[in-house]
Amino acid sequence: MYNDFQSHLEFEKEDLQRAGLWKFEREITSPQGAVINVRGETALNFCANNYLGLANNQQLIAAAKRALDERGYGMSSVRFICGTQDLHKELEQKIANFFETEDTILYAACFDANGGVFEPLLSERDGIISDALNHASIIDGIRLCKARRFRYGNADMEDLENQLCEAIDCRFRLIVTDGVFSMDGNVAPLDKIYELAEKYSAMVMIDESHSAGVVGRTGRGVTERFDLRGKIEIITGTLGKAFGGAIGGFTTGKKEIIEMLRQRSRPYLFSNSIPPMVAAAGIEAFRIMQSSNDLQDKLHTNTEYFVCKMKEAGFDIKPTESAICAVMLYDARLSQCMADALMKEGIYVTGFYYPVVPQKQARIRVQISAAHEHEHLDRCIDAFIKTGRKYGVIQ
Ligand SMILES: *Cc1c(COP(=O)(O)O)cnc(C)c1O
Repeated sequence: MYNDFQSHLEFEKEDLQRAGLWKFEREITSPQGAVINVRGETALNFCANNYLGLANNQQLIAAAKRALDERGYGMSSVRFICGTQDLHKELEQKIANFFETEDTILYAACFDANGGVFEPLLSERDGIISDALNHASIIDGIRLCKARRFRYGNADMEDLENQLCEAIDCRFRLIVTDGVFSMDGNVAPLDKIYELAEKYSAMVMIDESHSAGVVGRTGRGVTERFDLRGKIEIITGTLGKAFGGAIGGFTTGKKEIIEMLRQRSRPYLFSNSIPPMVAAAGIEAFRIMQSSNDLQDKLHTNTEYFVCKMKEAGFDIKPTESAICAVMLYDARLSQCMADALMKEGIYVTGFYYPVVPQKQARIRVQISAAHEHEHLDRCIDAFIKTGRKYGVIQ
């Protein structure tokens, strides 16, 4: 039997390879950071979600080590049986304070937070209206729920309004959007979404994974950017990007919603609690962001500088309000050749092309971090100019 399945997998693999969709992984042999070691080669990293540079922060590491000594390695339990320490509760409180929400529930990852948020709250009498470019975990979460599904074009408010009209006979309506869309770096127009939600009596859920720590003057996310703190029913996010980059996710928002998720959300009920050291380091990450705005400020200055210099050099950069800069190349092969050439210059970036982005919209995505120093940004820009000229992307 396995022989047949094995050849089936080999055919599928060849298909993927022929389509150029087979993924490779580079091995990093150092901590995650601005400067990394990739199997013996030093490179500047511009493709991590390490927006605030906390992935190798000494205060987070110290907090994690202390928790390791004082609270042990793992919980060997789900939360409701015997997997909750004071650290988990403290982290939930910190997250609620950060987003100005009423309560928070932790998950092993944001993938689980999104996977477990819809099914416990909504039924076939309800409707979910979802942005076409929402993250895979939102799409999967919606699939697990019986609510009716409506989709609107990316950040297209006219289409959202049409879909809200279509959903008008649903008992409850929930609009769902990513805060920042990961391939373009654009921010969801939450002000307009909120207006439409009011007009059509819908609730709003926003996934702040790429925006928390990044967007808004103090990094509180898209709700800060549009002055809507405390107004959005459901916010999901990850501890795996700006907030230290280890593991963990959360849903934060109205207390009755969080309370019901604790009772019914399957990835919470039937999956382990995050390790105490991760909770402790998470608490430290929120403490750092609350005690000073230095990292957020540095990230914003770095991003503005990078985008400005790249435009000056003649590159076509998608309008961005996040730390994601899409350097548009349009041609799939070119995006791969440029990324390889940049790696030879010691700049680690990734080229994306169809089907990850639309046809003829290939690009290199650059992710800026507070861990980057001016010298790192300049080296990246210089390498882009050198390789861009070589490939005829710029003059
Ligand atoms: C990264 C990401 C996730 C997944 O987060 P994990 O905690 O790594 O599972 C979910 N949603 C969005 C929008 C993301 O960007």
